[in-house]
Amino acid sequence: MIASKILGLNARLTQGVRSNLRAFSVVVDSADYVVAGGGSAGCVLVNRLSEDVSSTVVLLEAGKSDRGKWDSWKIQMPSALTYNLHDNKYNWNFWTEPQAELQNRTVHQPRGKALGGSSSLNAMAYVRGHALDYERWATTDGATDWSYGACLPYFKKAQTHMYGCNEYRGGEGPLYVSREWHSNPLNDAFVQAGVQAGYPYAADMNGFQQEGFGNMDMTVGRNGERANTSNAYLRPAMSRDNVTVQTESVVTRILWSDESDGSKRAVGLEYQQGGETKQILANEEVILSLGAVGSPHVLMLSGVGDKQHLADHGIESQIDLPEVGQNLQDHLETYVQYSCTKPVSLLKYASWQQPWHKIMAGVQWFLQGKRAPSGQARTPCLLTRDWATFRAGAHLQGKRAPSGQARTFRATAHLAC
Ligand SMILES: Cc1cc2nc3c(=O)[nH]c(=O)nc-3n(C[C@H](O)[C@H](O)[C@H](O)COP(=O)(O)OP(=O)(O)OC[C@H]3O[C@@H](n4cnc5c(N)ncnc54)[C@H](O)[C@@H]3O)c2cc1C
Repeated sequence: MIASKILGLNARLTQGVRSNLRAFSVVVDSADYVVAGGGSAGCVLVNRLSEDVSSTVVLLEAGKSDRGKWDSWKIQMPSALTYNLHDNKYNWNFWTEPQAELQNRTVHQPRGKALGGSSSLNAMAYVRGHALDYERWATTDGATDWSYGACLPYFKKAQTHMYGCNEYRGGEGPLYVSREWHSNPLNDAFVQAGVQAGYPYAADMNGFQQEGFGNMDMTVGRNGERANTSNAYLRPAMSRDNVTVQTESVVTRILWSDESDGSKRAVGLEYQQGGETKQILANEEVILSLGAVGSPHVLMLSGVGDKQHLADHGIESQIDLPEVGQNLQDHLETYVQYSCTKPVSLLKYASWQQPWHKIMAGVQWFLQGKRAPSGQARTPCLLTRDWATFRAGAHLQGKRAPSGQARTFRATAHLAC
């Protein structure tokens, strides 16, 4: 399938690219779309682009498959999520440089390295951005197509919610979202305590009122497996003849052509696979979906970034874009632990003190899927006004402000499920 495209592509290559390719002893393939990185974004893109059966799509992913290995259950079983966070089998396992604002501590930065990317090791909380964030992008920042009303149809299109479709939830999308399969007294006590303290109860944290205490939506499938983007988007696309997925393929740089107006155009990728350096060319587009660390990394290796910084590392500048690789922001996570006065916590499943509980929970998941506690425990959460309004850049009226959610509610009320 790929080889049949090569002749057509070569006819379209500029002289600059052909001479560039001759300099390497490599296998050269081609496809219409070459997607680098099979994570959250990459899997969705492969699915959507390959809906047109006349287009060929190749996915290059550095990690392994998220299925078919003896330990794939560590990815697929929701409650096994911590297992992949501390080694580098399915995880890039990055550490930051010393952070001046954190008294020079280095901070652990796990990132998924498998089909599904970080959705194969994330915590599965399905939390849409606050409506006011989107409104700010549209009104203040000029991204007019990104208002909440404009985005909501896409959120719904992506989702099948276990409670079915309504104004905010989707009912027919590829990504299964569930809530509240298993609970224990502490979950309800947490939410009730918040309400007693004066916070609102959030019946749907992705609905009209996000602020408050409530139970989170989770990307856990009907069968009790993780609904990562590999399961939701890539697997269905892999049955199409026009899709090729290459795992354990590490992209190392973008191949450029010199355009007649002096600009550069990305025409392919170089990558490492099985100890060989290979190249693949794109008839239509090269798509970098390598994540918040991987994409700027490969851009910089390809000469896109701060010219001086690249020169310091012996990389020839192709496009001088000083912001590339700068300003990464992430949320810190801190844990607060309390002892429980009654033996009702999930500790017995989490620790090895009484290993049979943990083992039985795992066995139950293999046998029963979603009905097992290891399928999905209820996940209560507090979304505070400070968090929501701070991120939205709004004042303390928060989402009750008429200019906020009320307006977007009206804007989307007509949308069919
Ligand atoms: C521990 C953790 C917990 C999280 N919890 C949540 C949560 O509960 N809810 C939530 O909404 N979000 C959560 N997130 C964030 C969410 O998972 C990410 O924002 C999202 O998956 C990022 O998608 P992406 O496509 O940008 O990158 P990724 O999904 O990370 O995909 C990038 C892909 O590119 C591949 N790649 C990178 N470099 C190369 C290369 N050179 N060559 C080839 N392939 C390469 C990677 O292996 C990976 O598969 C969490 C993230 C982490 C790390």
